[in-house]
Amino acid sequence: MANKLLDQAFKELGPSFKELIEKNVEPFELIGQEDDGYLDDPDGVIEFLREVGAPICADDNGRLYLGKVAEPCVGAGCRISAKCPVGSKVGSFHTHPLVGVWPSYPDIMTSSQEHERFFCIGGRLVDDKPYAACYIPTGKTFYTDPFKPMYRFSEEPAESIRFWRGEPEADAEYLLEIFSDADLDNELGDYYEVEGDTPEERGAKIRAIIERDDELPPEYFEMSDGSGGEWDELDSYSPEQGERLMEEAFKRLSMFFIAEGRYL
Ligand SMILES: [Zn+2]
Repeated sequence: MANKLLDQAFKELGPSFKELIEKNVEPFELIGQEDDGYLDDPDGVIEFLREVGAPICADDNGRLYLGKVAEPCVGAGCRISAKCPVGSKVGSFHTHPLVGVWPSYPDIMTSSQEHERFFCIGGRLVDDKPYAACYIPTGKTFYTDPFKPMYRFSEEPAESIRFWRGEPEADAEYLLEIFSDADLDNELGDYYEVEGDTPEERGAKIRAIIERDDELPPEYFEMSDGSGGEWDELDSYSPEQGERLMEEAFKRLSMFFIAEGRYL
């Protein structure tokens, strides 16, 4: 189905999607070659299963562009910035590490809570070529039976990858949002040499530094022991399966989304 917004999205955002996918999504042949069938080394998990995301922004002329790309993280709950340097946020893009860029239930819910006009997901399909699909809500409220799997595909996954899902690391924007100035001094005071008589005064200065640099001190991450998390499992399909199953996913979602996928 020809759709103006979809055409515009692929035309104006396609090159940015492609770049992010090539940089962040591992080729299929590399994933799933783990002999023991699971990933428990945090570096391996972040290497193979990381996702990156960014807001889709519209500038003052209505032209679409990608906003700031968030730090890679694993699984749903990856934070995508709500801010656009120019214009306003109209949607979001994120990558999927494994074959299949159909939206998960949290993907759909987050997009709708954020009132996005559309969202796109990118990954690799046949011959490891970058591929993205975009989803525009039809206006019908999405509903799915919470007790059934959201997709019932006609093909079994090639394999399941068991991995250790660590707790997501804090990022600067998120911490600034949840912490008061006094919290910032308490939590991060050791990493900054700022003067001030009260926690609030020092925290405000720390806030200004973090806002300016848009990052947290690396030492902060070394402090956390990284032990929080849980075992999780992801289905992995072959690229050829993925191409067929994309069509099944679009069909499944067709009442709720106008969807289209393209190689980039
Ligand atoms: Zn997703």
